[in-house]
Amino acid sequence: MPSTLTYAEARGRVLAAVRPLPPERIPVGEARGRALRQNIVAAHPLPPFRNSSMDGVAVCSADLADATDSTPAFITVVEVLPAGRTTSRALAGGEAIRIMTGAMIPDGADAVVPVEDLETLPGSPERVRIRRPAPPGQNFREAGRDLAAGDPVLGEGRELSAHDLGLLASLGEAHVLVGRPPVVAAFSTGDELLDAGAPLVPGAIRDGNLPMLAALLEECGARVARAARLPDDPVKVTEALGRALSSADVVLTIGGVSAGDFDPVKQSIGELESVELWRVAMKPGRPQAFGTPSGRLFFGLPGNPASVACVFEAFVRPALRKLQGFAQLERPHVAVQVAEAIPSRAGRTDLVRVTLARRDQRWWAAPAGDQVSGHLTPQSRAHALLIVPEERESLAVGDGADAILLRWPETGER
Ligand code: AMP
Ligand code: MG
Repeated sequence: MPSTLTYAEARGRVLAAVRPLPPERIPVGEARGRALRQNIVAAHPLPPFRNSSMDGVAVCSADLADATDSTPAFITVVEVLPAGRTTSRALAGGEAIRIMTGAMIPDGADAVVPVEDLETLPGSPERVRIRRPAPPGQNFREAGRDLAAGDPVLGEGRELSAHDLGLLASLGEAHVLVGRPPVVAAFSTGDELLDAGAPLVPGAIRDGNLPMLAALLEECGARVARAARLPDDPVKVTEALGRALSSADVVLTIGGVSAGDFDPVKQSIGELESVELWRVAMKPGRPQAFGTPSGRLFFGLPGNPASVACVFEAFVRPALRKLQGFAQLERPHVAVQVAEAIPSRAGRTDLVRVTLARRDQRWWAAPAGDQVSGHLTPQSRAHALLIVPEERESLAVGDGADAILLRWPETGER
């Protein structure tokens, strides 16, 4: 008999079974989307040296203290300083150094006058006329203003963004310690299933779940080493799972775990060491299998498309993210208001595929079509999975709820 678990118990058991995979050190340029597996502190200040935020001239502000339209100051440009070049020359009174954005401020200078405020004199390009004072520090970017040496920068478990890579590279972190992509094998099962490109024949449907599952797996950082379809044949299923479990970190099957009479897949799965058949008090996605055969993670997902999608968000995504070492295991959640009454049942957690609309500065959630596990369009239309908690029998219009955000509504969405 399968064990019956609440949604929270099932999640607890899955996550307790996951140990993060050993990290790997990779070039910073390849680390976008990975989980950072170390704490980063600034090895040096940013900016590393005081530099100019404008193209202009570095000056001694005292030389311009009395400059006005009618009594301009005249100073002499003694050197040109592009970004990347430094000078050992210190400015003396009445002197200026032409300086480009990002160039190190020379000694003796305490302000930069932008190029727009300079007038060069005909016939003597080294003389400039300036008609107003420059307060000390004007157009300076001070060393360490962004980060001081030793400041905490990024913490372990962070999902590295493109912007993070810019910060890490600027701090000289050429290689970073990150979670490695879990190697995953996924199998759909069913004699009724066809390739997307195959003509329909009576009694058969096309296999929509496998491409969806493979894409979801990749999207959360896994490397899909194998994605294949298996017949409803226990020998073939046992063989394929045995092979997959010898090389992949995570193995998933779709279908064949429900209470049907004809479930040869359930037999093979049931024979795997440590794998249990579960009935989770959730909708969709009640029948499932889970375990850790040979120290790998195994998920037996139910066959209906909505069940695959919802069980993925509830259990598979958090597990895969924990394997990689992410601190945040789920997609972001969004607080919503219920726009149409949602029936449920006490003692069961429902994930309702909803669309979101913005009104009165709130997100209003309405079911994205009939909540039938076999229907595909509600899943495609949905912006979020609204969670009806176990203790609720229904949600009424205007009730607040928590939803797993799948995507934001798009402009002009159809
Ligand atoms: P099962 O749990 O194998 O009985 O599958 C439940 C329902 O989901 C059945 O109607 C199957 O035809 C359907 N199903 C199973 N696997 C897939 C798949 N890969 N793509 C589309 N539908 C599927
Ligand atoms: Mg089946």
